[in-house]
Amino acid sequence: MLRQFAAIDREHLRARIDEEKRRFVDAHPRSKAAFERARASMLGGVPMNWMDRWVGGFPVVLEHAEGARATDIDGHAYVDFCVGDTGAMAGHSPAATVAAVREQVARGITAMLPSEDGIWVAEELGRRFGIPKWQFTLTATDANRFTIRLARGITGRPKILVFNYCYHGSVDETFVVLKDGKVVARDRNVGPPVDLAVTTRVVEWNDVDGLERELSFGDVACVLAEPALTNIGMVLPEPGYHDALRELTRRTGTLLVIDETHTMSSGPGGYTAAHHLQPDFLTVGKALAGGIPWGAYGMTDEVAARVAAADIDDTGGIGGTLAANVLSMAAARATLSEVLTEEAYARMIGLAERYAAGVQDVIDSNRMPWHIIRLGARAEYGFSAVPPRNGGEAAAAMDHELDEYAHLNALNRGILLTPFHNMALMSPATTQGDIDAHTEVFAEGVRRLLA
Ligand code: PMP
Repeated sequence: MLRQFAAIDREHLRARIDEEKRRFVDAHPRSKAAFERARASMLGGVPMNWMDRWVGGFPVVLEHAEGARATDIDGHAYVDFCVGDTGAMAGHSPAATVAAVREQVARGITAMLPSEDGIWVAEELGRRFGIPKWQFTLTATDANRFTIRLARGITGRPKILVFNYCYHGSVDETFVVLKDGKVVARDRNVGPPVDLAVTTRVVEWNDVDGLERELSFGDVACVLAEPALTNIGMVLPEPGYHDALRELTRRTGTLLVIDETHTMSSGPGGYTAAHHLQPDFLTVGKALAGGIPWGAYGMTDEVAARVAAADIDDTGGIGGTLAANVLSMAAARATLSEVLTEEAYARMIGLAERYAAGVQDVIDSNRMPWHIIRLGARAEYGFSAVPPRNGGEAAAAMDHELDEYAHLNALNRGILLTPFHNMALMSPATTQGDIDAHTEVFAEGVRRLLA
């Protein structure tokens, strides 16, 4: 029997959005004034250009954040499921990280010298991800950029391959999509250095034939992949897809880079350890130093031997001056040893299960044509009845009005979701009460939408 879905009246939806916007503006006079003041000194009135795209017309300005809570300068406290889009996945200012940073900051911050904490962290990453040799950066973007350069350096191949609607940070080669089967820069990509078809091949996620075809040219240095797409809603791999990806990359002499920056929500060793993936490189960043800037990329012994044999004389200084600074390394050691532990992950994943079950219940009981997907401690709802199979389908299923409504509904009732996503990430500080608060706000939002 065909399931009958509830119908969404678009005019009613737009009226609800206007109502929520007014409520948001009325409740945030200080954030609004700060935004207007900042217009004189910051491009677009925000520290990073894209920040003016927060719903409501201006971003809320942070007063302080602690654990799973963020408080803005208008005095509103939010249950924070955005956690800095994963940067604060360890919770805001976790006690062990704060203590380690306090101690380290008086004993040197950056010295362009290695520290013993860094060795401990590399060993721990090896244990978690099953990848033995590591290098450090300050961001996941840089981890991806430097990995791509090494992959080109050791293979002598010019291109990379990424998946349609992927996101790996502001890496020039990756901000690219398929349009009518052609590789083009994504909408609003700023200043690509060359036509991106020169640097990049693109295929749809879960498309084994497309992958085989594009790798057969023999000009791809590496495939850069999140193990599940997490930046165009969430799109999971179909059964057998990772096996095919590994087999085809090996067969064509292409290196496989797995970007765990978001999917490390899957467990202490990310999706890679949870699903026994065998990448050549693994990149990560954002959260593992408790929010202190830090990123890393690891490689197998075989790749490390190829790098050594290629005798790459790195005059460019891959990594940069501040990478592996002793403050970041102390923060990473404390966060990995005391905050993002196995026990913390078990709790966080349990909370995400509760979150997803609560949302699913609201979807089902109201017959909404929506879905929710969970990956370990991360969950995201999408406004299509059937979860998309790839980035192209996910982009086509985007519903900007519903996104705007969902975010405003949440923001006006003390819940912070990740901007440009309907993503919620659990931290060790998140509680069951936080989850239930979200479920209630989500249910209320649906009720108002259907009223
Ligand atoms: N990789 C992935 C999968 C990401 O989602 C992001 C950022 N959202 C990055 C890399 C880049 O992280 P950063 O902006 O901290 O460099």
